Amino acid sequence: MRIDVLTLFPEMFEGVFGSSILGKAKERGIVSLNTVNFRDFALNKHNTVDDTPYGGGGGMVLKPEPIFGAVEHVTGATTNEGERKAAGEKSPRVILMCPQGTPFTQSKALELAEESHLIFICGHYEGYDERIREFLVTDELSIGDYVLTGGELPAMVVIDAVVRLLPGVLGNELSAVTDSFSEGLLEYPHYTRPAEFRGWKVPDVLLSGHHAEIEKWRRMQSLLRTFARRPDLLESADLTAAERRWLDEERRGPKDGGP
Ligand code: SAM
Repeated sequence: MRIDVLTLFPEMFEGVFGSSILGKAKERGIVSLNTVNFRDFALNKHNTVDDTPYGGGGGMVLKPEPIFGAVEHVTGATTNEGERKAAGEKSPRVILMCPQGTPFTQSKALELAEESHLIFICGHYEGYDERIREFLVTDELSIGDYVLTGGELPAMVVIDAVVRLLPGVLGNELSAVTDSFSEGLLEYPHYTRPAEFRGWKVPDVLLSGHHAEIEKWRRMQSLLRTFARRPDLLESADLTAAERRWLDEERRGPKDGGP
C-alpha cells in the first residue's frame, strides 16, 4: 500500500512513521509512507496557502490551488488516470480529515485496508475552500466529535488503524481479528502470569486448558463487557438467538450461566 499525507507540518510524522508497528511495516516494504508539504504547491512567491473568507468573518481558509496541485503531483507520481484504468488499478482514495466527516470506525479501517493508495489531506485554520470537498476528495473522515488544531493527529490515527490490518504487519494475525470492534463487540479481558497477584486470582477457566470452555467464557465476557460499556454496539452485532435471549435476561437482572 502507498500512503501520501499532504500537510503543512511534515516533521510531525517523522516519529510516528519511523517507530513501532508503522516503522516495521515500512521497513518490510508492506507500506510506503510519504509526506508532501502542500506549501510547495502554492502559486505565489510568498508560498501562501490560505486567505481570508469571501463574505467576511474570522479565520483563514485553505486555498484550493496548493491542495489540488499536491494531490495531482502524488497521483501523477504513480501513474495517470487512463493508464491506471487500463491496468485495472483502482483510483486512489483522497481523504479529507475534518470534524464534519463520517465518523472513523474499525469497519472503515478494514475498508481502507483493501485499497492500494490512500492520500490524506490535513487541514489547519478555519477550514477548506469548499471546492476541495466538492471536486477533489473521495472521503471526509472525523476521528470524533471534538475539534483539534490540525488534521495531522487525526491522519496518524487513521493510518495506524489501517496499516496494522495489512497482511504481515502484526506478528500475531489473530490479534487484529479478536480486537475490539472487529466482530462488533468489545474484546474480552486478558490475564498473564502470575496466576495470583496480591490475592487477585486469574479466573480458573483460563488455567483449565479446556479450549472450548475458554472460548465460551471469552465470548460471554465480550458480550457482558459490551453490554455494560457500549450497549449501542449490540444492536448491530452478530449474535445468536440464544445470546440475544441471555442478554435480555441480563437486562432484567444478572444470572449465572451464559447463553
Ligand atoms: N472550522 C472547522 C469546523 O468547524 O469544522 C474546524 C477546523 S480545525 C480547527 C482545523 C483542521 O483540523 C481541520 O480542517 C481538520 O483537518 C482537523 N481536525 C480537527 N478536528 C478534527 C476531527 N475531529 N477529525 C478530523 N480532523 C479534524
